[in-house]
Amino acid sequence: MTNEDSIADFKRNLRGRLIEPGDKDYDEARKVYNGMIHKKPRLVARCADVADVIRSVNFGRQNDLLVAIRGGGHNAGGLGICDDGLVIDLTSIKYTRVDPAARIVTVGGGCVWGDVDHATHGFGLATPSGFISTTGVGGLTLGGGIGHLTRKCGLTIDNLLSADVVLANGKFVKTNADENSDLFWALRGGGGNFGVVTSFTFKLHAVDVLYGGPMLYELSEATDVMKWYRELIPGAPDDLNGFFAFLTVPPAPPFPEDLHMKKMCGVVWAYAGPQEKAEQTFKPIRAFKKPALDFVGPIPHPASQSMFDALYPPGLQWYWRADFFNALSDEAIAKHVPFGEALPSMHSTMHLYPINGAASRVGKTDTAWNYRAAKWAEVIVGVDPDPANNEKIISWTKNYYDALHPYSAGGAYINFLMGDEGDERVKKSYGDNYDRLVAIKKKYDPDNFFRVNQNIKPKEL
Ligand SMILES: Cc1cc2nc3c(=O)[nH]c(=O)nc-3n(C[C@H](O)[C@H](O)[C@H](O)COP(=O)(O)OP(=O)(O)OC[C@H]3O[C@@H](n4cnc5c(N)ncnc54)[C@H](O)[C@@H]3O)c2cc1C
Repeated sequence: MTNEDSIADFKRNLRGRLIEPGDKDYDEARKVYNGMIHKKPRLVARCADVADVIRSVNFGRQNDLLVAIRGGGHNAGGLGICDDGLVIDLTSIKYTRVDPAARIVTVGGGCVWGDVDHATHGFGLATPSGFISTTGVGGLTLGGGIGHLTRKCGLTIDNLLSADVVLANGKFVKTNADENSDLFWALRGGGGNFGVVTSFTFKLHAVDVLYGGPMLYELSEATDVMKWYRELIPGAPDDLNGFFAFLTVPPAPPFPEDLHMKKMCGVVWAYAGPQEKAEQTFKPIRAFKKPALDFVGPIPHPASQSMFDALYPPGLQWYWRADFFNALSDEAIAKHVPFGEALPSMHSTMHLYPINGAASRVGKTDTAWNYRAAKWAEVIVGVDPDPANNEKIISWTKNYYDALHPYSAGGAYINFLMGDEGDERVKKSYGDNYDRLVAIKKKYDPDNFFRVNQNIKPKEL
C-alpha cells in the first residue's frame, strides 16, 4: 500500500489532477474504449505537461507501482489502464503545431488522430494514421500505424521524424535519426515498452480531398470479390488504398432501406491522387461488377478518417484476433466466406488491410516493424453493445481466427492483439526484430518498469 502522505505530496506537486477511487470522476477516468475492460487503478495522474509525466514516472518507480500509460485508451486489451497501480494519463497533453513550410506537425502525446487531421487539413496536408479518428496517436504510432494512406505514404512510423520521451529513470530525452537513434528505432514498432512519449513530430504530405468510401457487393459474390481484390491491390498505383471487409449494413441513413441489416462484403476505398484522375482510376474497379452500393466519391481527408466513428462509439464490447498474411490463397478465401456469412452481430467485422506500396519499400530492419513482406494485415473483431452477447462474439472471433491462422505469416500486428494469447504470440509478432528490441529494452528499461504493453522482456522473468 502506498503511503498516504507521499500520495498527498504527489498530488500537491502535480499541475494536472490526481484522481483516486471515491473521486466523482474516478469511474469516468478509468473507462477505456473497449467496454469489456473494467480495471480499477489506485491512482490516475492526469498529467498537464512533461514535468507532471516526469514526476509521475518517478513516483511510480519510487513506490514500486505497476504503471500504465494512457494515450487514446483504444487498446483492445485495455493496455492504457491497469488494476491497483498508477495510470499516467496523457489525455490533457493535447496540442498540435503545424509548420506548413517545413511540412511537419508536432503533436502532444495525448492527442487522438481527429485532433491531428483537423490541424493539418487546414493546410491541405496530412500524415498517415488509421481508420477511426478517436484512436490515440500514442498507441497507434508506437505499434506501427496502418490506415488509408499506407500504400501512398507508408505506415505512421515511416513518417515519424522525432519523439520526446520520459524514460523509466525519469530522464527526458529527444529521439530522432541522429539522437538516441537506437531508441528511435525501437519506438517505431516496439509499442509503449521504452518510455512515455510526450510529443511526436510527423512528416506531412499534400493530401487534402480524397476520392473514397465503401463499395459493397452481395455476400454470394464474396469469393469472386476476394479473388479480384487480391489480384488488384498489389499492382495498383500507390495512390489507391482499399481494405476488404465483411460487414452488416447499419439500419440507418444514408444506407438504402433495402440493404439495412444485410450482411455484405466490400472494399472501403481511399484514393489520394489527383482528383482529375480519380474517375479514371475507378473505371476498371466499377467495371469488375456492379456494386450493390457505391458510396465512393470526393471526401475530405478528415471525413474519410472519421467515417466509422459514429458506428463505433466508445463503450461497445470488443473481442479481437489478428494475423499477417503473405498471400491470400483460394483455399484461405474458401475458409473466409462462411465466417463472413456468419457475422454474429451488426458491428462485427473482418478487415484485410493492404501492407504494400510505400509501406513495403521500407526495410524490415529499418524500423522495429517486422512484417514488411506481408501483403495483408487481417483483423477479426466480434463487437456488440450488449455484454450478454459476449460469448457469441468471442466464439465467432476465435473460430474464425483458428480457421485462417494456418495460412498466416506467423504473427500479428501488435496493435491488433487482444492480450490473452501469451508471450510466445507477442514474440512472434515482433518477429525477427525481437532480440534487438530486447537489447534496447535492457538499456533503457532494465527493470521492465513499463510492462503494461505487448511486453518485451529485458530478461527471462
Ligand atoms: C476502433 C478501433 C480502430 C482501430 N483502427 C486502427 C487502424 O486503423 N490502424 C491501426 O494501426 N490501429 C488501429 N487500431 C488499433 C490501435 O492502434 C491500438 O488499439 C492502439 O493501441 C491504440 O492506441 P491508444 O493510444 O488509443 O491506446 P491506449 O489504450 O491509450 O494505449 C495503448 C498502448 O500504447 C501505449 N501508449 C499509448 N500512448 C503512449 C505514449 N504517448 N507513450 C508511450 N506509450 C504509449 C500504452 O502504454 C499501451 O501499451 C484501432 C483500435 C480500435 C479500438
